Amino acid sequence: MKYYILFGPPGAGKGTQAGAISKKYNLKHISTGEMLRAEIAAGTELGRQAKELIDAGSLVPDSVVEGMIENTFNTYKDVAGFLLDGFPRTLGQASDLDQMLARRGEKVNAVISIMIKDETIKQRLQHRAEIEGRADDANEETIMNRIRTYHKQTEPLITYYKNAGKYHEIDGECGDIEAVRKAMLKVFRGIDKLLERQVVLDNALFDQVQKLAHDSPRLRMNYDLRNSEEDQSQRMINVMLPGTKTAIHRHNLSSETVMLLRGQMDTVFYNDKGVEMQRIHMGGDTGVLGVNIPKGQWHTFEVHELSIIFMAQDGPWSPLSKENML
Ligand code: AMP
Repeated sequence: MKYYILFGPPGAGKGTQAGAISKKYNLKHISTGEMLRAEIAAGTELGRQAKELIDAGSLVPDSVVEGMIENTFNTYKDVAGFLLDGFPRTLGQASDLDQMLARRGEKVNAVISIMIKDETIKQRLQHRAEIEGRADDANEETIMNRIRTYHKQTEPLITYYKNAGKYHEIDGECGDIEAVRKAMLKVFRGIDKLLERQVVLDNALFDQVQKLAHDSPRLRMNYDLRNSEEDQSQRMINVMLPGTKTAIHRHNLSSETVMLLRGQMDTVFYNDKGVEMQRIHMGGDTGVLGVNIPKGQWHTFEVHELSIIFMAQDGPWSPLSKENML
């Protein structure tokens, strides 16, 4: 089974775009918002509890939505996978989802994010209230609360999934609904090709990752070589384009091995004050093909031309914490 997350603020167009993708890739579309609205309409106990929170623009408890998600995973067996819309919405839900999938021997395959500005959220929700009559779209105070809830609780997921090398972003204002759909299908095609090619690490695979890096606002893309998030090692291919910015960071639990497969780039070492201490140029005619970055060493990468590296570290992956970034 494949597990995709359709991410974005309220009004980004997730529900509008989900149909085309789920049909093309035979995915079961799960919208937690729609499921909750169905519970309210049916007058169930769960619906009664959720209504007040939804009408105020707040989130319902994690356990409620997680129960609905797991039920749906258990119910649909004849699909190629699931397209999650509106879930996860908090870091807690994201980590619970990782655990839920790990128990099934599965993982999140990719996150496709549709981004729009706050002002656009407001306009779209007001417009949607006129058409659909949703109480949580209707008044300005509720809308502002949903925008605040999004920034505070949901936006941190972007970093979570970026660090996992699973995040792909689309500009939700790049044109009309059809233009956004085309952009989404393009990203999906790229991801789908990648997922098909998990055994041979060849030029065709690198070219696919390279295309996704070009489409990414971060100008780089990871290709994860692990079996699951619980793996006791970290192994990945990283395609980086000139202009990509990597924070000065360190890994406190492991040294890191970086081998250059294509291109030219520098690994730069810093002291605790962020002063550059050593610059190792890799590629070109230097004869330097890799570096072993000691545990705890502050470092970053500067890319001179499109570069592809293989990176490896000990221990399971976890997101970089603030004290490990300068
Ligand atoms: P949506 O249709 O995705 O905009 O969801 C409508 C409302 O349902 C949200 O504002 C929340 O109150 C609730 N909701 C939907 N999904 C979740 C979730 N994953 N976690 C908590 N609350 C949710």
